[in-house]
Amino acid sequence: MLKIDLHTHTLNSKCGQHTLLEVLNIARGRGMELIAITDHGPAQGGTVRGTFFQDARVPHEFDGVRLLKGLEANVLDADGHDDVPRSLLERIDILLAGLHPSFGGKGLEDNTRAVLNILESGPAFDMISHPDIRAYPLNLERVVPAAADKGVILEINDANLVLGKTDLEKMRELLALGAKHGALFAVNSDGHTWAEFGRDDSTRRALREFGSPAIDIVNDWPLDKVLAHFAARRSIRRG
Ligand SMILES: [Zn+2]
Ligand SMILES: [Zn+2]
Repeated sequence: MLKIDLHTHTLNSKCGQHTLLEVLNIARGRGMELIAITDHGPAQGGTVRGTFFQDARVPHEFDGVRLLKGLEANVLDADGHDDVPRSLLERIDILLAGLHPSFGGKGLEDNTRAVLNILESGPAFDMISHPDIRAYPLNLERVVPAAADKGVILEINDANLVLGKTDLEKMRELLALGAKHGALFAVNSDGHTWAEFGRDDSTRRALREFGSPAIDIVNDWPLDKVLAHFAARRSIRRG
C-alpha cells in the first residue's frame, strides 16, 4: 500500500466513482500520508472546479492527510497542445500529462512527438501518465532521456497493470532506460474506486520480476522531500 499516491480520480472525472470527501476518508483510513487528486482535464470530460483550487476554501490537509491539488491533463495533438485551464495553472500543485482518447494523433511517431513537445514547451508538467500504455506506444529511447533531462516523472501505473492495459515489454524498456538516464519515477494507483486507492502490489511484484531495477521512485522518498519537490515545480509554473 502506498503512503503517497500521486494519481487518483474523483467524481469530477467521468470515470471516477467517489466524491472528494470519500477519497480523502479512504486515504485517511489507509494511513496514507499524502494523496494527489488528479481529475481528468476538460477534453476528457473532466469537471474542473475552481473552488477546489482555492487554498482558502480547500486546505492542503485533511485530518492528517496531505492533499496535492492536481490535474491529469490531456495532450491533444502531436504538436503538444494541452487542455490545462490557463486561469488555474499557477494554483495546480501537481500536473500530469497523458495520452487519452481525446488525443488526435495517430501512431508511434505522433504519440512520441506529442510527448516530446509537451516536455519541451508545455507548462512545466510534473509527470507523464502511463508512458507504457499499449494504446499509445511511445519511442521510449527518445522520451525517457528528454523526461530525465527536464526532471519530469515517468509513471508506473498500478491500475493499468491490473487491467492489462500496460505493454509489459514497454514497461521493461521504460525501467531499463530510466535507470540508465537517471529518470524519476512514481508508482501510482490511478485509483478510480475504493478498491484501488493506494494500491501498488501489482507494480511492486512486476518490479521484482523485472529484477528490481535501480530506479529513483518519488513515492518512496520521505514526505517532506516529496512536498519540497512539488513546491519547487509549482514555482516554475508560476514563473
Ligand atoms: Zn490517464
Ligand atoms: Zn488517471
